[in-house]
Amino acid sequence: MLVGLNGVHVEHVDRCDGLLVVTVSSSPAPTGCPGCGVVAIGRGRRRRVLHDVPGITRVRIVWRQRVFRCGDADCARKTFVEQIPSLVGARGSITTRAIAWAIGQLRREHATIAGLARQLGTSWKTVWRAVEPELIKLAEDESRFEGVTILGIDEHVWHHVDPRKRGPKELTGMVDLTRDSSGKTRARLLDLVPGRSGKAYAGWLGERGDAFRKQVKIAALDPFAGYKTAIEDTLDDAVAVLDAFHVVKLGTAAVDEVRRRVQQDTLGHRGRKGDPLYGVQTILRAGAENLTDKQRSRLAKAIEAHPAHEEVFVAWQCAQQLRSAYHQKDLAEGRRIAEQVLESFHTCPIPEIARLGRTLRRWRDAFLAYFTTGRSSNGGTEAVNGIIELHRRLARGYRNRHNYRLRMLLAASGLTP
Ligand SMILES: [Zn+2]
Repeated sequence: MLVGLNGVHVEHVDRCDGLLVVTVSSSPAPTGCPGCGVVAIGRGRRRRVLHDVPGITRVRIVWRQRVFRCGDADCARKTFVEQIPSLVGARGSITTRAIAWAIGQLRREHATIAGLARQLGTSWKTVWRAVEPELIKLAEDESRFEGVTILGIDEHVWHHVDPRKRGPKELTGMVDLTRDSSGKTRARLLDLVPGRSGKAYAGWLGERGDAFRKQVKIAALDPFAGYKTAIEDTLDDAVAVLDAFHVVKLGTAAVDEVRRRVQQDTLGHRGRKGDPLYGVQTILRAGAENLTDKQRSRLAKAIEAHPAHEEVFVAWQCAQQLRSAYHQKDLAEGRRIAEQVLESFHTCPIPEIARLGRTLRRWRDAFLAYFTTGRSSNGGTEAVNGIIELHRRLARGYRNRHNYRLRMLLAASGLTP
């Protein structure tokens, strides 16, 4: 812990009140006045207490910071203090290396600002004030957009309060789905912009510049016409592909709708605890191959409880068929199933499935492109979505969209190439 304090040496180390207190100072060296360059005269030292990376106990650095007076009596600077940026910023109270440590904890260890503040023995505000400028610097560095060839998009609701107070509830997220040299997708959240619209997406693409737009070869998206238009208008060379995650979600949503409608029809009210279909909600959302024998028999029992439940079962099978297109080892086989879906769903007597079928037929090219672009969007969007949800929950929500964006970009690897 004591090594790696650049530019200073340790004078002594004390333990008191469960704190490790390390007193440090710099070696004397001729120092020029920052105003005029004239050699300065030492005027003693002052104690500055800094929060450092905690070990078993909290660590305080006491820096005996040199104070100088300018050698030129006419200089406007009069007195000044020494600066060691590798130790701490000019006005900071958290050491430079503790800031780097905190950012690493936020990024890799699902830490929260409140948790870091506890460990450092300081306030939420102090930690955020130290971390925020570093994150802004990283976010403004356009080099983090280099090498993006597969671009995904995903939107989510980030707050549930009055939009007049906090702005639009939806945020549109741009996701890097580019594969590395081994063919693995390392999904990164590249940005979050307010609203859910083609305009928000096109605006962001516009800000990125020609070089970025030219290198994007595949644009994965959910079936939302605004995005399609944005891709056609700004990404000339890119193939639009429906994101697997979003398509599977559409299937699951259709089953949910059927279940709710059938519950309403058979019971005259919404499903509640004890109703046969209510208990199998989560089973209906899972992939058939992941169900245990116990879950299978619970599902069978719920379906058999009423003849009208057969409709839910058929819808579930349709969603499973759609899902299985994405789970084939062989892409050609996946495409064959996708084509079956396109041929059959829109004529299904279950209205929710027929509507899903019509949506997919409208997006036919983008739906099938998944199977010819080598699973371009598999899993990446879902992974980023999961990280966002986890971090929103860990922080118990956010009030400030600017902070939210920086934190989510950091957690979902968007700030590190
Ligand atoms: Zn001077």
